[in-house]
Amino acid sequence: MAFKAQAFRTFGKLTFGFRTFGKLTLAGVIGASLVAGDVGAQQKTPSPGSAKAIFGAEKLPTQGPAQPIGFYAKGCMTGAEALPVDGPTWQAMRLSRNRRWGNPAMISLLEKFSQDARTRIGWPGILVGDIAQPRGGPMPNGHASHQIGLDADVWLTPMPSHRMSYEEREDLPFISMLQKDKFLTLDPKVWSEQRAELLMLAASYPQVQRIFVNPAIKKKLCDTWTGDRTNLGKLRPEYGHDSHFHIRIKCPPGANGCTPQPPVAAGDGCDKSLAWWFTKEPWAAPKPSTKPPKPPREVMVSDLPKACSAVVDAPSIASTEAGTYGGPSAASALTAAPAAAPPVDTGSALPSLGPVPNDKPVVQ
Ligand SMILES: [Zn+2]
Repeated sequence: MAFKAQAFRTFGKLTFGFRTFGKLTLAGVIGASLVAGDVGAQQKTPSPGSAKAIFGAEKLPTQGPAQPIGFYAKGCMTGAEALPVDGPTWQAMRLSRNRRWGNPAMISLLEKFSQDARTRIGWPGILVGDIAQPRGGPMPNGHASHQIGLDADVWLTPMPSHRMSYEEREDLPFISMLQKDKFLTLDPKVWSEQRAELLMLAASYPQVQRIFVNPAIKKKLCDTWTGDRTNLGKLRPEYGHDSHFHIRIKCPPGANGCTPQPPVAAGDGCDKSLAWWFTKEPWAAPKPSTKPPKPPREVMVSDLPKACSAVVDAPSIASTEAGTYGGPSAASALTAAPAAAPPVDTGSALPSLGPVPNDKPVVQ
């Protein structure tokens, strides 16, 4: 619910057009996910047998070495590790989703980034949102990418000083950096220079290839960042991403089944690809058409790379604890929902579908 409410706040009067546009562009989700970070959420319950239903039902990763298979928005993974629920400089959020699984390269990056954030810029610690499902793959709701363990969402809210309960991690509201009722404008009461430092720190790691942020955040950095701008081009403007940012890392060395994405174009990206977001075009309702578009065919496991069929059937590791980064002792009792916890309505708890650009800007 929180995310929907935020979308309403964020887009104000544009909400109607925003939602309509989203529904009508589902057909472009797979293609558009090349540029999209978290858009592409389809709220409809996936059919039994679809890739979303099958991968969404996996509780544990496969045994064996970690391998990303396929592309960020069309693939799966083996040998995932779980980010521990708590670390000295992080807390994992929305535990009921079971999406704190990733390639070890991503999990160790999150650990390093969270430590550096504290020691180098004084950010108390990070709140980590979705990484991936235990075996990756398409999710029943929430993201087009995050399928191969190399994408992770980090909140723009600092970690609180206390260790949050299971329920707090479910309910802590997303805080938008955008000003209510203003078009793509950061709220100076929420935004801070320290958040700019956090983003540029994340972009500084060589293995990080892209960071998806709201266009208003990108513009702010373009206008105000006076430090080294070498990595500014890694910050890519995208719908949403106003309360969290999305870190995407490159295919790790030796990951032969991983399909790389081309690097971002040279330069800081403070150019017409950013200016486009401040035109009406990305936010306009689609032209009325006489025929409603055909709903897209659901993605099946057979549409994913061939190796993903074997990933579905492969034996599991023994337990979440056994797959937790740092070993079973790093796992936490919080991974289990308390008996009294109400059932989680994942449909409404996840972001509603944002509009997806059809062919612009070109793949970033
Ligand atoms: Zn994301």
